[in-house]
Amino acid sequence: MYNPSSPYAQEFIDHQEILQSLQEASRESRNPARVAAILEKAALLKGLTHREAAILMDCDDPALEEKIYALAASIKQRFYGNRIVLFAPLYLSNYCVNGCVYCPYHYKNRTIPRRKLSQEEIAAEVRALIRTGHKRLAIEAGEDPVNNPLEYILESIKTIYSVNEGGNSIRRVNVNIAATDVESYRKLKAAGIGTYILFQETYNREQYLKLHPTGPKSNYEWHTEAMDRAQEGGCDDVGIGVLFGLSGYRYELVGLLMHAEHLEARFGVGPHTVLRVAVPYTGMIISTRESARMREQLLHCGISQISGGSRTSVGGYTTVERHDETAQFDIADTRPLDSVVRWLLENDHIPSFCTACYREGRTGDRFMSLCKSGKIGLCCTPNALMTLKEYLMDYASPETRAAGEALIEKSLADIPLERTREITVRHLKEIEEGARDFRF
Ligand code: SF4
Ligand code: SF4
Repeated sequence: MYNPSSPYAQEFIDHQEILQSLQEASRESRNPARVAAILEKAALLKGLTHREAAILMDCDDPALEEKIYALAASIKQRFYGNRIVLFAPLYLSNYCVNGCVYCPYHYKNRTIPRRKLSQEEIAAEVRALIRTGHKRLAIEAGEDPVNNPLEYILESIKTIYSVNEGGNSIRRVNVNIAATDVESYRKLKAAGIGTYILFQETYNREQYLKLHPTGPKSNYEWHTEAMDRAQEGGCDDVGIGVLFGLSGYRYELVGLLMHAEHLEARFGVGPHTVLRVAVPYTGMIISTRESARMREQLLHCGISQISGGSRTSVGGYTTVERHDETAQFDIADTRPLDSVVRWLLENDHIPSFCTACYREGRTGDRFMSLCKSGKIGLCCTPNALMTLKEYLMDYASPETRAAGEALIEKSLADIPLERTREITVRHLKEIEEGARDFRF
């Protein structure tokens, strides 16, 4: 029986409810009045239920699809303005005791070299990332209580934050590690993590059990209820997602939205990384796994965060040769960060290295109330301009710098409050004179 407030996976991700939602969707998607009413509700930025979103997903009229994409873009603009936040993944270790059949890190794979970075190697990787201009990382590691125990992850986070390269440092570390217990989430929170990210992979229990035959991850409940334990441990900024392709995308989308509804119902805090029209305030991320062309199309459908200049191998930022031997997946967009920044600028987006909310303690319900009231954009735009300015001063090529300066000049007019605009202009000048790290 579907119950979004239940702590039990089988109740907040209810198989029958997903099937009924999909059945209703195939019927109702042919009812123009119902579809129009759902679009009207979405345009009011109220979000959609999983049942309503499933109906939109079932519409295959190209004109209607265009309308949905345009709505997604305008909702993103309304909440976050023009900014696109940039980050890079950092792979710490590819040791893993799980048996996920789609991943090269699964424990039975003897054909790849196993590697775990030492603290010195992590510091070297971080220095290399800072030198390209990154301020925000997402660390990744396989699940292995012997090789990658929690203590290793905590020590690595400490190392990352301690690195200073030419006066710059990493300002936010997001963490993508296996489901764990409340006490461990408490320790991660105390270590100063930003978002805790855990992909469900697939919400379809039958598929899940087939694709995750062995290891701690083979326990569907343990994995699906992880975000509840993370919230209980104080990690109030969580990111969920699926690996589209493992099961039917319609099923996954409904499951994902039910997971978001559950986190809202139980903790009042929705997750990052679900879909724009249905969950308007959410942060949506697209990685370099997708091609530059696809990323460009998605930028116009409500994406708010992308990775750039990424390596998905352990030690990939400092070991150029043969790095793909330890890569978790192939990268389709191989452009360096400077090219990604220039491409965003050319597409009229503001590349942002902002980490302000996390550093101001604006997480959990504080972030949600600012976000849902539509006021977060008042911070996002000036913060994007100031962190872009830092990037232009410290790392950009001459062409990127010229394009960036022009966009900053043009975008100042988009800051609605005069006082905020004045402060931003002052800080931009101070950044030019060598000062750093201003934020709203
Ligand atoms: S997906 Fe994650 S848990 Fe599964 S084998 Fe790969 S690294 Fe391990
Ligand atoms: S102000 Fe907050 S929401 Fe906006 S880009 Fe910065 S960290 Fe993200």
